[in-house]
Amino acid sequence: MAEENDFQKSLIKTVRDFVKKEVLPVASVLELADEYPEYLVEQMKQLGFFGATIDEEYGGSAMGTESYALLVEELAKGWMSLTGVLNTHLLVANMIQTSGTEEQKQRFLPYMATGDRRAALCITEPEAGTDVAAIQTTAILDGDDYVLNGRKMYITNGRYSSIYAIVCKTDIDIDPMHKGISVLIGEKSQGLNVVRDIPKLGYRGVETTEITFDDYRVPRTNLLGGFEGHGFAHVMSGLELGRINVASRAVGVARAALEAAIQYSQKRETFGKPIAEHQAIQQKIAEMATRVKAAHLLVLDAAKKKDQGVRADLEAGMAKLFASETCLFVATEAMRIHGGAGYIQDLPVERYFRDAPLMIIGEGTNEIQRQVITKNIMKNYPSGDFIYES
Ligand SMILES: Cc1cc2nc3c(=O)[nH]c(=O)nc-3n(C[C@H](O)[C@H](O)[C@H](O)COP(=O)(O)OP(=O)(O)OC[C@H]3O[C@@H](n4cnc5c(N)ncnc54)[C@H](O)[C@@H]3O)c2cc1C
Repeated sequence: MAEENDFQKSLIKTVRDFVKKEVLPVASVLELADEYPEYLVEQMKQLGFFGATIDEEYGGSAMGTESYALLVEELAKGWMSLTGVLNTHLLVANMIQTSGTEEQKQRFLPYMATGDRRAALCITEPEAGTDVAAIQTTAILDGDDYVLNGRKMYITNGRYSSIYAIVCKTDIDIDPMHKGISVLIGEKSQGLNVVRDIPKLGYRGVETTEITFDDYRVPRTNLLGGFEGHGFAHVMSGLELGRINVASRAVGVARAALEAAIQYSQKRETFGKPIAEHQAIQQKIAEMATRVKAAHLLVLDAAKKKDQGVRADLEAGMAKLFASETCLFVATEAMRIHGGAGYIQDLPVERYFRDAPLMIIGEGTNEIQRQVITKNIMKNYPSGDFIYES
């Protein structure tokens, strides 16, 4: 970890202090009760987390993707759900910053940077998740407004946000279908209905919602970038940051599970000695620790590439794939090492186990991640040497 700069060291300390003092004492209680962590979100606002990757000229701290990844990792180590409150918010801010008109940046980003107005990203529908081009939500121009109709599923931050990046079809006849996709930046008003909060295995406390648009009007000036048909590209580029967020969360949860397992294995005795002295447990810890370290380094590699201002699909895809599979593996092994104590709610190990599977699904499933990685290598590195040529 010697390569962190002074800012990053101080950032990590700030997040760790917050996690230790404020998050850990309440995380399991709030998570099990599925209660929105309003007080913690308020403190995250004070700490400036909601402006982490937003440019300084719009009120953010522009800390860069690498520092953001470190922030997310530490926060997720305390409670993964809190990083979900940040993820779609900063992903939408990133889309506006990268693809929005100057007027849209001025209008949305300063409020978003404080966290006073937070954002949700609405892509998934009942009939379209992985296959984004198959979405059915339509936006038809009527005077100076688009009129939206459709239904979105699994929308994180759907209830407590006031800004919605809505991925929709402004042209339903065009071939190929993805060329008819646009992104509209909607605000909470009549016609946008949060119809239910969806119960989940883990990742509780932060809301995952179903939203309908019933003749919901969005001003034409809120079309991201000002041009129709660019939505698919906006989403794919935005997902880079989302994938780095999910990968960092996975490393954070995996580190928490690993540390719990290491500490427990030194305390718990069977057959007259700590279980850490049984070779079977030692083999597990070695495997877990090695994978966690590799995942951490892959995430930093992806974040550094993104900070160079170039597309980082390949690196973000690899980081997301490896870190999330590592998290699932490590959370499961940590539970095994805890025996019965890993399965009950007295310790957070069972929470890590319930939180881990989300990371293999969210921001593009790992099946799709593998396709993204291979397609990228075939297209950009036909020699196969993506290590030195990238
Ligand atoms: C807790 C939670 C929060 C979420 N938050 C948001 C959010 O804020 N905003 C949002 O828009 N979405 C959100 N999602 C949705 C999430 O991004 C989707 O669930 C995910 O992209 C998968 O889509 P799907 O569920 O429709 O699965 P499907 O697309 O139906 O896939 C089903 C299975 O088929 C596999 N599959 C599909 N196509 C292929 C293929 N071509 N090749 C190989 N395998 C394939 C998938 O990998 C998967 O295993 C959230 C989901 C969850 C669970």
